[in-house]
Amino acid sequence: MLRVLVLGAAAGGGVPQWNCGCMVCQMARAERPQLRSTQCSVALSADGDHWFLINASPDLRQQLIATKQLHPKAGQLRHSPIAGVILCNGEVDAVAGLLSMREGSPFTIYAHPGVLSILRANSIFNVLSEENVKRQPIAIDEPFEPRLPDGTGSGIEILPFAVPGKVAWYLRDTSLPGGRGDEIGDTIGLRIRDRATDKYVFFLAACARVSNELKARLAGAALVLFDGTVWRDDEMIAAGLGQKRGQDMGHIAMSGTDGAIESLAGLGIDRKLFLHINNSNPALLADSEERGALERAGWQIPADGMEIVL
Ligand SMILES: [Zn+2]
Repeated sequence: MLRVLVLGAAAGGGVPQWNCGCMVCQMARAERPQLRSTQCSVALSADGDHWFLINASPDLRQQLIATKQLHPKAGQLRHSPIAGVILCNGEVDAVAGLLSMREGSPFTIYAHPGVLSILRANSIFNVLSEENVKRQPIAIDEPFEPRLPDGTGSGIEILPFAVPGKVAWYLRDTSLPGGRGDEIGDTIGLRIRDRATDKYVFFLAACARVSNELKARLAGAALVLFDGTVWRDDEMIAAGLGQKRGQDMGHIAMSGTDGAIESLAGLGIDRKLFLHINNSNPALLADSEERGALERAGWQIPADGMEIVL
């Protein structure tokens, strides 16, 4: 049985974002606290006792306090059920939470060598001593099984793969193993397989478009957690919140002919959740037209703390 915990479903900044006065952020501060959402992170477990985080968001401390599955075991003075952290990239949204994981508990960081070199180059991450916190390189298209603290397998197989999107700088160098040319445009997605049941879960917090190759990969999955940054490509510009389109940031829109909802229809995916939702996205409002359309198409926007058992 694979357990998937949504620790946070918001894009960078969260909902509400500290410096944002848009409608959703204002409502989240005042009359609709249920709109509040922390920045995107997910936890996985095959045994219910040991957990692996996908990305360590800047809100990690708050997420750990709010999530009883991740509390220290009763009767132990120092303990954490978190056995490892898998990093999809080296950006602030994915790595800042690591700084809340100092204090000497052992765990393993799994990340592309390019991401590990970002951690090494920023001395602030030395608060995680390499004695306690192992750093394990992972590679595109090479499956790995995160380990439990006693060295045995976790029962979860993870395959990092390239997704159409903004080019991660550490993938640009074609001399690197798994490196790709600029023209392809790569972002890391994760295919997660429960070895006991052979069920598949996909995590794609960033994806610029759904290629036929990606469709074939996702077909028949038990669960897809997918990029829900914006409802429409130009919504941030239309709302006066910025000059960037979703595509400029490597994010597909939820709506439209080439959007996520349309592109992932009819692929036999059991459950579809949007993640990495920006506070400009009107689908966050439970009574909006956009939310209705999304739900009618079989999608959900998860609340923080939602647990899915597969
Ligand atoms: Zn806002």
